[in-house]
Amino acid sequence: MRYYIPTEVFFEKDCVRNHGAELARYGKKCLIVTGRNSSRRNGALQDVADTLKQAGILYEIFDQIEENPSIETVMEARKTGLLAQAEFVVGIGGGSPLDAAKAIALMIANPDADESVLYRKTELSALPVVAVPTTAGTGSEATPYSILTIHKEQTKRSIAHKIFPALALADAKYLAFAPRNVIVNTAIDTLAHLIESNLNTNADAYNRIFSEQGMIRWAKTKDALMSGELTETDYENLMIASTIGGMAISHTSTSLPHGLSYMLTYHFGTPHGKAVGVFLPGYLRFCAGKDMAAAGNVLALLGFSDLNAFEEWIFKLLGEVTIPADMWEQNVELILRNPAKLANVPYPVGRDEISAMYRTQN
Ligand code: NAP
Ligand code: FE
Repeated sequence: MRYYIPTEVFFEKDCVRNHGAELARYGKKCLIVTGRNSSRRNGALQDVADTLKQAGILYEIFDQIEENPSIETVMEARKTGLLAQAEFVVGIGGGSPLDAAKAIALMIANPDADESVLYRKTELSALPVVAVPTTAGTGSEATPYSILTIHKEQTKRSIAHKIFPALALADAKYLAFAPRNVIVNTAIDTLAHLIESNLNTNADAYNRIFSEQGMIRWAKTKDALMSGELTETDYENLMIASTIGGMAISHTSTSLPHGLSYMLTYHFGTPHGKAVGVFLPGYLRFCAGKDMAAAGNVLALLGFSDLNAFEEWIFKLLGEVTIPADMWEQNVELILRNPAKLANVPYPVGRDEISAMYRTQN
């Protein structure tokens, strides 16, 4: 067994403003990487800017990170980072800016390299990354993954480099500004990380600490997610579960629901959490067919009486997604050619079983 999370993580109210000293450790100039709007509205950008100023750190802002960030955007942001002579990168936002920040930090540290190094397994270092999550979520603040959209291949994939943020400053207060659909979709992404990490070939006694504790925490927010009436405590539980979910998948990686989701996001623009969530009932049903005790443990930790209750709940929350039959077939073929994802499924799985993972919603 192996445990490895080299990120220093703080979780508290006003977290960014409380940790100027930690930020100052990474240099005198930095690049802030964020989305187009939300970090201005929820106060996270202001918190970071004020804290950097107070610590005497110069910064430049790149605020053009789109949802499901592309290689092209990463390369564009590198230009800004190089001009600013950035010594570290601060990512502010949901998983998209955080993932982009990691890839940008790699490209700035290797100014002569072209984009092909992103997907080449080479020993390259990246600038230190500081992550300020504003969704709960991807857990990207505590994972080494950076998932980018590859337009040439019409899909998304994690880059070949593992880049853990050096520092993560998590504060649930930003969640209060997020619209209901963002809260719901990102909470389901966390749920998927916890389930896919727990029912995973790489699951062990070390990383189950994360997936199981994360599920217990996440379960407390279930009713509020459905009603849409979330309290400060709910936001805190979601943020904690999200970071813990990141710690869980850092050790196990994700499994089939994530692997199957990328096509939905690329072709239909389905938000990441929803695209993953619609495959969770099928995945759980498949796992239950192989080992009822393991799947039953997951359902119990999440507070669902059985598989049908889970399925009903999640589709009520997310709504249905219709996938054209030929596209679904194509997607199943694609995943069958992805040995890394299949290797994470804890039981032998073939074409028929994967195909059946989506019929459950009809
Ligand atoms: P996101 O794409 O980062 O953001 C979704 C939307 O939410 C954007 O419109 C964003 O606005 C807005 N937003 C973010 N925080 C907000 C807040 N506090 N209040 C109001 N609006 C807010 O969504 P995400 O689900 O967090 O990230 C998805 C990405 O992460 C995908 O690319 C996925 O593949 C990746 N991912 C990474 C990992 C990992 O381990 N690294 C794991 C799972 C998923 P702005 O654009 O204006 O900021
Ligand atoms: Fe995810």
